[in-house]
Amino acid sequence: MPKAATTCVMDCPDTCALEVEVRPGEGGAPPEVVSLGGAADHPTTRGFICGKVARYHERLDHPDRLLHPLRRIGPKGEARFERISWDDAIGLVARRLAEVRDRSGGEAILPFHYGGSNGLLADGLLDELLWARLGASKLAKTICAAPTTEVARAMYGRIPGVAYEDYPEARAIVVWGASPKTSGVHLVPFLHAAKRKGAFLAVVDPRRTFNDGEADLHLAILPGSDLPVALAMIRRWERGGRLDRAFLARHVADGLEPLLAAADAWPLERAAAAAGVDPDAIARLADAYADASPAVIRTGWGLERNVNGGRAVAAILAMPALLGKFGVRGGGYTMSNREQGKLDARRVLGGFDWRARTVNMTRLGAWLTAVDGEGSAQADDAEPLAGDRHFPPDPPVEALFVYNANPAATVPDQRRVLAGLAREDLFTVVFDQVMTDTARWADVVLPAATFLEHWEVRVSYGTYGVGGGRPAIPPRGEARPNHDVFAALGRALGFTDEPFGWDERTAFDRVVDALRLVGKPVDRERLAAGLWVRPDFPGDNPIQLGPEGEGGVRPWTPDGKIHLAPPLLGPDPFVYRPPADRWPLALISPASRHRISSTLGETPAGELTATLHPADAAPRAIRPGDEIRLHNDLGEVRCTARVSDRLRPGVVELPKGAWRRDSRNGLTATALAPDTLNEVAAGACFNDARVEVERWDR
Ligand code: SF4
Repeated sequence: MPKAATTCVMDCPDTCALEVEVRPGEGGAPPEVVSLGGAADHPTTRGFICGKVARYHERLDHPDRLLHPLRRIGPKGEARFERISWDDAIGLVARRLAEVRDRSGGEAILPFHYGGSNGLLADGLLDELLWARLGASKLAKTICAAPTTEVARAMYGRIPGVAYEDYPEARAIVVWGASPKTSGVHLVPFLHAAKRKGAFLAVVDPRRTFNDGEADLHLAILPGSDLPVALAMIRRWERGGRLDRAFLARHVADGLEPLLAAADAWPLERAAAAAGVDPDAIARLADAYADASPAVIRTGWGLERNVNGGRAVAAILAMPALLGKFGVRGGGYTMSNREQGKLDARRVLGGFDWRARTVNMTRLGAWLTAVDGEGSAQADDAEPLAGDRHFPPDPPVEALFVYNANPAATVPDQRRVLAGLAREDLFTVVFDQVMTDTARWADVVLPAATFLEHWEVRVSYGTYGVGGGRPAIPPRGEARPNHDVFAALGRALGFTDEPFGWDERTAFDRVVDALRLVGKPVDRERLAAGLWVRPDFPGDNPIQLGPEGEGGVRPWTPDGKIHLAPPLLGPDPFVYRPPADRWPLALISPASRHRISSTLGETPAGELTATLHPADAAPRAIRPGDEIRLHNDLGEVRCTARVSDRLRPGVVELPKGAWRRDSRNGLTATALAPDTLNEVAAGACFNDARVEVERWDR
């Protein structure tokens, strides 16, 4: 059976090279994707992929797959639609967007999009040109990675991190706020290889995500307490004379004094009390990391999702600099490698200006409900919030265009998001592959092609390289690639920019030709064949602050130096704000084995389940399988209890990205998450949710 090469575009750091087995259609039937697997000759994919994407082709013909444009015929949210033609759909959407622009100004249009496709064609290309020409509101993409991105940029210029393949060189590995067993699974074999060579593996996470015997130390801290723990480790090193003063003098421009001053306030015992762990365990982690070389920290995104998150990221990223862990293969840190690929989309599109207000996506519910008239039930408590400077909205949002995203399931303060989507006066378009929770509230639904059905280019943010995507099969039904739909809308709105006339393959070629991978052009033919291109580092992979000629990369900051307390951290760069304690349990909502954020939520993952530690379940008389309710001031979620000591006491877990139908009352973890913002980069604070849990029969 023929196999097609392509690249996974899911919101996952691994960016696997895929092999797609396609059975040709017979007798007029469309070709079938029979299986998806990993390319054996890709350096990190190495012949396997995660279970989520191994079943991705089931989405192609899933009953929830969107095959035709639809127009709402019932009340909002009831998902009663009638089929319409593409011409009618494009005409209707273009007319309504133009009406809103002419009546209230372009900023009354809000495009909402995120990581449902991380390809360069499907997100941030022609769509941007369309929104710019309409003068639509801009979207601050803060749901994930805003603090980590901004802090890493300010401290190190987002230099490339330690490659997965170099982890076996490390003698100590700290996985901090990441869960490679669930997301980014291709790191795991390299962790195992390092362990076989005798490396010390520590994991900092409220949950035990590794099996017994896999990790040498599991520091199960309370959510949001990463900063005190990091500062206590730094204090221990400073007092123990462990700092690498020569490295600091050579490579660090500023920030050492405020960092050490802040750390001085965090003796082990104080940090241990804040984090709910044994002080000796923090000391053990600090000493094991300090003693080893090479040593690497793999930071994830779990540690940023609280009010202290940006500062915690800064303190943790300072560690390899403080101890001089850079300069050797396998030493340093890994966070996002997205900066390896650079594309100036505006140049590709011919240049354009877009001046408009910015809407923080984390506060979508507040934005949609802050209106006068129908749907304004919560307008009175609408308040400005640092990091959401254009709020309250003037003009209010009158048109919402959602693509690559499912905010009804993923955005904090879910009830307020749903209240906004229920507004009769809000014109909502959802452009997606399946009937998501958000699509059910749309006025117009547009069917999108999956990444197996369109051209794409994808820069990895975890592994090294860029991958090409070409259609393995034609789109099902009348589904269309993002490029085609934004081009059609641009033409229907009368915009004459040349890119609105490009076909998808032309857009692919233009993007590839303009893309630079660590400063160099990429091989268009390989990408057009669905294959990957690796950056050209001497020695195969970069060495952070390593020797030139051996893959060494200096900080990509303007002065080539490290900044330990950059200005974006604010005047008190390492201050710790303890969580509110009105509710007794911290709620976390990490990624699950079933979905990539909310993508693939159409495939049943079983009933929504909340996990508690036995010490929290017992006093509440909760047993496994009980029906329970989690609640706080924002709402309640009804689901089934699981009791497990893989989670630390004081914490309850609901999966990220669950769809509303998984829950017994149509609400999920985001119904309990506040829409407050991280003080650095205005990121979402999902893990600041605090709740009570009780049996439902009470
Ligand atoms: S989701 Fe991640 S691990 Fe799974 S196939 Fe895609 S890139 Fe690979």
